[in-house]
Amino acid sequence: MIAVPFHQDPRVVRGFTHFSRAVAVLTSVVALILLAGWWWNVPLLATAAPGQSSMTPNAAIGFALCGGSLLLSQETGPLRSRLASWLSLAVMAVGVATFGEYVWAGEPGIDYLLDDSLMALVFVLLGSLGLLVSMRRWLHLREGLAMALLAIAMTGLASYGIALASRHSLLFDRVPVYTMLLLLAVLGWLSSTPATGLTRVATADTLGGAFARRLLLPALLLPVLFAFVFEVLQSGLGLPETLAFAFMALFSGAAVALLVWWVANLLDQLERQRRETLRLRNDADTDTLTGLANRRAFDDALANLLHGQRKHDAMFSLLMLDLDRFKSYNDDFGHLAGDEVLHITGHLLGAALRPSDLAARYGGEEFALLLPQTDVTRADEVAARILDAFRSYAWPRRAVTISIGMAQSAAGDGDTDLVQRADAALYDAKHAGRNRAVAATAAR
Ligand code: GH3
Ligand code: MG
Ligand code: MG
Repeated sequence: MIAVPFHQDPRVVRGFTHFSRAVAVLTSVVALILLAGWWWNVPLLATAAPGQSSMTPNAAIGFALCGGSLLLSQETGPLRSRLASWLSLAVMAVGVATFGEYVWAGEPGIDYLLDDSLMALVFVLLGSLGLLVSMRRWLHLREGLAMALLAIAMTGLASYGIALASRHSLLFDRVPVYTMLLLLAVLGWLSSTPATGLTRVATADTLGGAFARRLLLPALLLPVLFAFVFEVLQSGLGLPETLAFAFMALFSGAAVALLVWWVANLLDQLERQRRETLRLRNDADTDTLTGLANRRAFDDALANLLHGQRKHDAMFSLLMLDLDRFKSYNDDFGHLAGDEVLHITGHLLGAALRPSDLAARYGGEEFALLLPQTDVTRADEVAARILDAFRSYAWPRRAVTISIGMAQSAAGDGDTDLVQRADAALYDAKHAGRNRAVAATAAR
């Protein structure tokens, strides 16, 4: 079996990029509308994002800049990425200015300070995140920033759950609009570089990728639901705190169980699909008589390995094998008896190999083995093992032997050179008396 490289699903990667661009536009547009609402004092817009009026323009400006930076950072070109970095710097400046405003404005109330200093922190972090993404720097730091911002947004949303249930807000005044913008902006930055870091898993063409795409968003929304239920239990139904906690424990247990069940279901479905694909693939690549790979699969694998040899200097060995005096076996015992020998040969070869090796029926009573990352000395050990297995096997009619030609890949090998060298070595093995392995002379 040849190792399959980690692969991104190109459709999903494109989807993430589109999502990020859409988020950038949406964030800017909503923020600009809120800014216009503040500027011209439109009551409807002022109530859409309630809160201290002085804070409204800061946040709206911050999010508008953030959306612009996100949009520009997607485009290639040094000018645009520099502009994106500058816009993100401006987002940081909004944060710093917001903080300064409350340090020097005097006498802010404690709720007021908590809320607005948090907003200030959000913009400093959001600007830093945008700056690092635009500069394509420090992947781990920017993922840490994204997680911190996500945590703040989730806390905001959870408090919104409480506010929804009790119809009054506690921690964040301006949820949901600003919290939603924050959540979107963070997700937008995360998905703006779909093939790196955390999003690499979510865009992967793997089971893990399929999970991440289906489950991450519902998982993110759980805190809102929990907060809502807790508040309904406590304030809405008037349950005592201990009872409300007990119900919450039950509720969260049930939610987790539901999530696990959903994952299990998904896993089950995907696994069955995978097995079906594998079966279809196997049928097309397997030789029915021997159970080994067929010629087509061998050619593919050889082409892959030759590619690896050329690109990464990844050496491998090829063994060509041919049953000895098989024509006379057929003549003496019939074609069906001969087929049985081929079947047993498939079994013996399969058993002699490592999982990374490939054994194929090359044609008729000839076989080929591909041994990745194996030099001819190691290949000789494998050949000796195979010869031993043939000698010690209890053959049904008479002993069967096999001859082996071995060759190691070399830097300049074209598509047919290696097979030719191994074939020549096999010919030498036959002439030297059969039932042996001979290594090819080094590549010319
Ligand atoms: P050598 O030791 O030189 O290889 O002698 P050999 O008799 O094995 O010569 P060769 O390799 O030319 O023989 C090929 C024989 O393999 C001819 C054919 O009867 C037999 N053969 C090829 N494919 C099959 C098959 O699918 N089933 C059976 N039973 N025999 C096959
Ligand atoms: Mg032959
Ligand atoms: Mg033969």
